[in-house]
Amino acid sequence: MTDVLYNASLYKNAAGTVLGVFAAARDVTVQKQAEAELRRYKDHLEEEVQQRTVDLVLARDAAEAANRAKSVFLSSMSHELRTPMNAILGFSNLMRRAESLSQEQRENLDIINRSGEHLLNLINDVLEMAKIEAGRVQVEHEPIDLGALVRDVSDMMAVRAREKGLQLLVDQSSEFPRYIRGDEARLRQVLINLVGNAVKFTPHGGITMRFGMKPDNTRLLIEVEDSGIGIKPADQLRIFEPFVQVGELSAQKGTGLGLTITRQFVQLMGGTIRVESEPGEGSTFRIELPVEKVDAWDVSRPEKVLKGEITGLAAGQPEYRILIVEDQLENQLLLTRLMTQVGLGVKVAENGQLGVALFQSWHPHLVWMDRRMPVMDGIEATRRIRELPGGADVKIVAVTASAFMEQRDEMLAAGMDEFVRKPYRFNEIYECLARQLGVQYTYASELDGEDISEEVMLTEKMLSVLSQALRDELRAALESLEINRIETAIDQVNDVKLNKILKHLATNFDYPAILKALQADSLEI
Ligand code: ADP
Repeated sequence: MTDVLYNASLYKNAAGTVLGVFAAARDVTVQKQAEAELRRYKDHLEEEVQQRTVDLVLARDAAEAANRAKSVFLSSMSHELRTPMNAILGFSNLMRRAESLSQEQRENLDIINRSGEHLLNLINDVLEMAKIEAGRVQVEHEPIDLGALVRDVSDMMAVRAREKGLQLLVDQSSEFPRYIRGDEARLRQVLINLVGNAVKFTPHGGITMRFGMKPDNTRLLIEVEDSGIGIKPADQLRIFEPFVQVGELSAQKGTGLGLTITRQFVQLMGGTIRVESEPGEGSTFRIELPVEKVDAWDVSRPEKVLKGEITGLAAGQPEYRILIVEDQLENQLLLTRLMTQVGLGVKVAENGQLGVALFQSWHPHLVWMDRRMPVMDGIEATRRIRELPGGADVKIVAVTASAFMEQRDEMLAAGMDEFVRKPYRFNEIYECLARQLGVQYTYASELDGEDISEEVMLTEKMLSVLSQALRDELRAALESLEINRIETAIDQVNDVKLNKILKHLATNFDYPAILKALQADSLEI
């Protein structure tokens, strides 16, 4: 159909007489169509906006659901992987304690244990990366013993270095604060990653770890230097990207995630990481981290090495009843053994509901509460117990394989007193009992549970039992920073207690503490 617009007007002379008619016709089909279209658009605009909004909401919901699914996946993977690791590490540790083992069996168990620890690290790596991607990493600011951390890492990595015929040294020439505020687990991982890489990419020579403070005393410097294959200038930035591996050696092993995680952690801690490298000569990774020094007594030491192994309960303790609420058979067994070994009374419930029932009939002093269980989970069981008569007094400790720190808040909000993460070290369990119930133990070592806090222990008086020659040698050895010489000097100290204290200080790189006591001693003379 065609739309036509007609126009007509009369043509008149000055006197008003009509002389004729002007008429015009115009085809306005297109214009009409456009107008109709416009009208339609106008009518539908609102509808369109609504539709788009709905689409957007759907897309957002889908993205959020995907994120949630990722988190759920992460936490369930974490649980699924860590729970059996707890049994592997725990039982191999328990077996190591048996006296009837041959040397070979003990070594085999050590290998199982070390491999387990390694596997756990791998699992943690992948989970950590996923957590970083999901934006779910929170750094801690707890007081930590940096000396002990450095010793742990160097002890652990020295084994790997030795296997390759490499030397791993901690250069102690510059002092670093022994106690700082920071994120122990992340810092440990950063060091392990860097030293691990250095060992991996160094065929000959050695690796040096160096620690020091910047002159303004607010930043900690960490260097890991190797005499390895080095990294080409073009690759020096790329290696921090995810899944990037360069050179021939790297393709065989590793995931290419190590340095990515390392850099992310350093940045989350407010620091920076750089690399300097000369191909064929070696590489130096340098980290700068803001640090705050803290007092020694703020640091909680999960494992007091000097206390020796816990063998049982001290005399005069009440008969404690401990309830284990856990669905996994292996983990039930492990915790049960740890409890019965020191003489604590135990009962086991395999889910939250049975746990609540046992709480009512048996009145335990403390409940080890697994978080995830069929029928009723640990959170719900805790809530219910808290509402029952006597429920406010019982101690409830979550035992969780969760990867997320924020779940701690959820557990505390449900009424749990504390939480222990799987895989746990045995002393974490025993110390938790001591904290919550005041349980006291007997120890295998001759130091017999005496709480040696090394900060107050070493005095000039104690060193005065040593000969002048030995004191001089000890001082010279400490000043030379040669670990073997220091160890030899300490080995000559016959006093068992003094020997242990010196060893403990030396292995924690607390040379200044010993030097101070020696200095005071020489000043007095
Ligand atoms: P990977 O798990 O593969 O070692 P990283 O992210 O830790 O992953 O390292 C990425 C790459 O950077 C390595 O594959 C290697 O090519 C290079 N690289 C890292 N550290 C060193 C080093 N100390 N010496 C030489 N090359 C290194």
